[in-house]
Amino acid sequence: MGDQLLKMAAQRIRHAVNNYGFVARIGGDEFTIILPETGDGNRVETISQQIIRDLSRSFKLGENKAYISASIGITVFPKDATKAATLLKNADQAMYSAKRQGRGRFCYFTSSMQETAKMRQRLVVDLHLALKESQFVLYFQPVIDLRTNRISKAESLIRWHHPEHGMISPLHFIPVAEETRLIIPIGNWIFRQAIIQASRWKQLFDPDFQISINKSPIQFMQSSESYDWIGELDAADISGKNLVVEITEGMLIENNASVAKRLQVYRNKGIEVAIDDFGTGYSSLSYLNNFDIDYIKIDQSFVRNLTPGSQNQALCEAMILMAHKLDIKVIAEGIETEEQRQILVDMGCDYGQGYLFSPPVSTELFEKFMYQWMLYSSNKDN
Ligand code: C2E
Ligand code: CA
Ligand code: CA
Repeated sequence: MGDQLLKMAAQRIRHAVNNYGFVARIGGDEFTIILPETGDGNRVETISQQIIRDLSRSFKLGENKAYISASIGITVFPKDATKAATLLKNADQAMYSAKRQGRGRFCYFTSSMQETAKMRQRLVVDLHLALKESQFVLYFQPVIDLRTNRISKAESLIRWHHPEHGMISPLHFIPVAEETRLIIPIGNWIFRQAIIQASRWKQLFDPDFQISINKSPIQFMQSSESYDWIGELDAADISGKNLVVEITEGMLIENNASVAKRLQVYRNKGIEVAIDDFGTGYSSLSYLNNFDIDYIKIDQSFVRNLTPGSQNQALCEAMILMAHKLDIKVIAEGIETEEQRQILVDMGCDYGQGYLFSPPVSTELFEKFMYQWMLYSSNKDN
């Protein structure tokens, strides 16, 4: 019966590990798993949890059912150790620590990896608080019409003022907000803030002033449909044309029916659609035909090393030509130098944004910037 149980347990472990690693039984009731390329450590945790779950289900031994539990110790090569024997010893120690903590759990050998896991948990707790305690601020970066030098667009970018750690980059917390689906209430907050600014700036600067909102793929999932954006929009004194939604190529490539449906609802309201980080990651362009796209945003990586005659110049030019043929406007991101601006103007790029003009700033600074900009351009015209 014992041998049978070991075999069944081994099968469940192998199933949980899938093709990601190598499973061995090193003796008694102990198994060792080697997972290569664990990346950020997420896979280690997912697989560990899966194994613990799978092994906690009952085993059918003849007429009887048997129940077992698993404790997992984790060690990381080469951070914790480089010798096989040391790694095994580490994992063993971590496993005992997991057992001590009450079985049915996993434990990291190093304090450092455990520290990262703890930090992430803290980040999740803090993110919950951040929304409640209004620690988020929406910043805006002007988008310049490269032909007329007028500004009638701005991209909204979220900022988090953490009470202890100061400013935390969205690159750091948006992924965690996505994993925990906190991006949905945060995204709804962003939308409301964007509407408030759009209605103010529409009156202050231009009836056609547009604010673009970055939307995460998670916000397009069916289950997050509950929040009534359209109703909110109807209640505000702006129209759809005052908003742009920025999404990434990946969402259209997966060709998900619910994304298409959502986009159509926006489009029917006059909200425009921009493809963010264009040119990175995907080579399929057929989606440009299948969806109504208004703008592509050339990714910063192409603009960064934009010099006359460079390969990036050829790529930018090709993107602009292609977009214009398809009746799509082009926004270049990350313009930092006058040379980059000039090259893009010469190639017929429609819009640009970047530190050359202004970094993303608070609403107060944005308004100051706008007045200075308008004053400067009217002086230049005279
Ligand atoms: P993104 O949408 O591609 O935003 C452009 C990023 O480039 C912003 O970083 C902006 O501050 C930065 N940037 C602008 N001009 C320049 C420049 O001239 N040079 C350089 N080096 N960088 C420039 P940020 O604000 O840190 O945002 C990073 C990313 O986080 C965004 O990339 C976006 O993917 C995400 N994100 C930011 N705000 C939001 C939001 O409200 N919602 C969602 N879902 N994602 C957001
Ligand atoms: Ca963006
Ligand atoms: Ca971008």
